Amino acid sequence: MKKFYLIISCLIFLIDANAQSYKTLHFNSIVCDTHNDIISTCLEKGYRFDSNLTGKTHSDLKRMFQAGIDVQVFSIWCDETQPQPFAFANREIDTLYAWINRHPDSMVIVKNSNDLIQAVQQHKLACMIGVEGGHMIEDDVNKLSSLYARGARYMTLTWNNNTSWATSAKHETDTSHPAHLGLNDFGKQVVKSMNRMGMLVDLSHVGEHTFWDAIHTSTKPILVSHSDVYALCPVFRNLKDEQIKAVAKNGGVIQLNFYSGFLDSTFPAKETAFEARHKAEKDSLMQAGKQEFFADNYLFLKYADEVKNMRAPFHLLLDHLDYIVKLVGVDYVGLGSDFDGITFPPQQLDDVTAFPLITKALMERGYKDEDIKKILGGNFIRVLKANEVK
Ligand SMILES: [Zn+2]
Repeated sequence: MKKFYLIISCLIFLIDANAQSYKTLHFNSIVCDTHNDIISTCLEKGYRFDSNLTGKTHSDLKRMFQAGIDVQVFSIWCDETQPQPFAFANREIDTLYAWINRHPDSMVIVKNSNDLIQAVQQHKLACMIGVEGGHMIEDDVNKLSSLYARGARYMTLTWNNNTSWATSAKHETDTSHPAHLGLNDFGKQVVKSMNRMGMLVDLSHVGEHTFWDAIHTSTKPILVSHSDVYALCPVFRNLKDEQIKAVAKNGGVIQLNFYSGFLDSTFPAKETAFEARHKAEKDSLMQAGKQEFFADNYLFLKYADEVKNMRAPFHLLLDHLDYIVKLVGVDYVGLGSDFDGITFPPQQLDDVTAFPLITKALMERGYKDEDIKKILGGNFIRVLKANEVK
C-alpha cells in the first residue's frame, strides 16, 4: 500500500513539474504573434482594448499579458470598399497610439529589434504595426513611406482584393476582378522600396503569381504573417510545398494562422451545413438590414454549441507546424494567430490566454527548448533584424 502511495505522489510531482516547466518556458521565451485584428474589431464595435472584453473578443490588454505575449503585431486593415483606405489606415494607427499613450507603463511602440528587446526587458507589450493590404497605399510610394514613418513594419502586398499592381489569392484568376497577373512593374518597385526602407514584405493573402514575383524581387527575407499549409488543408490562403521551400531558401518565416477553415480540410463542409440549417434566419436578418458579416456573427453566437463542434481539433495547428518543420526545418515557422480577425479558432484556443497551451503541446511533441523559443518568436525576430536598414 505504501508503495502505491509513493507511486501516486511521484506521478503528481511529475505532472506538477511538467505544468511548471511549460509555463516557465513559455513565460521565459519571447512570444511574438504577428497578426491580430483587435484594432478593427474595437473600431467596428466601439470596444476599448484596455477594458475587460472577455466573452466579446479574443483579446484585450490584460489577456495579452496573461497569454505571455511579448510582441504583438497589430493589423491595420480595411476592405476594398473603404473609399479612403490610406486615411482609414492612419485612423487605425492613431487608435493604437491612443492606447499606448493611455498605458505608457505597459505598452510601447516598437519599430526595430533593439526597441523590441528593450520592451521585453521592461515587461511592456511590444506593439508593432502591420498593414494588411497594399490598397492602403493608394498606388503611391510616398504613402508607403508615410506608413513606415508612423511605425508600419510589414505590409501584406494584398488583402483578399486585387490592387492595380498585385493579384490576391482570392481573385488571382477571377476575370471579374481584372488586374495584372502577379506583380507589375510598379508592384516590383513597391517591393524594392519596402526592402530599401526596412519594411517586411508579407506574402499572406497574395496569389501564387504575386508570391513568386515578390520572392524573386525581394532582396531580404520575407514574412508570411498568417497562413497555413496547403497540403494539409487545400484552400486559397495556404502555402504549397514549393512555396514553403522557397520561403526557407529565402530565409523568411511562415507564421501559422489559427483559423479552423485554414487548418481543417473538413471545415468547409461543416460550414456549409451550418449555413443550410440557419438559412431562413440569416435571410431574415439580412432583410432586416444586417450586413452579412454581422448576420453570421449573430448566428455564431446564438448557436455557440454547434459552432464549438465545428472548430478544428487543436492538434491540427501542431500538425501544420510539424509539416513545415519536417519539410524545411525548425527555423522557418512561427505563430500569427489572426485572433479577432477569425470566427473559429481551434478547440481549446478560445482566446489569447490559451497561448501557453501551444508551448505545452510543442514540449509534448518532443521539441527542444531552444527550438520552441525559435517558433514562439526567435524566427520572426531573425527576419525582422535581417530587414533592418543599418
Ligand atoms: Zn488576413
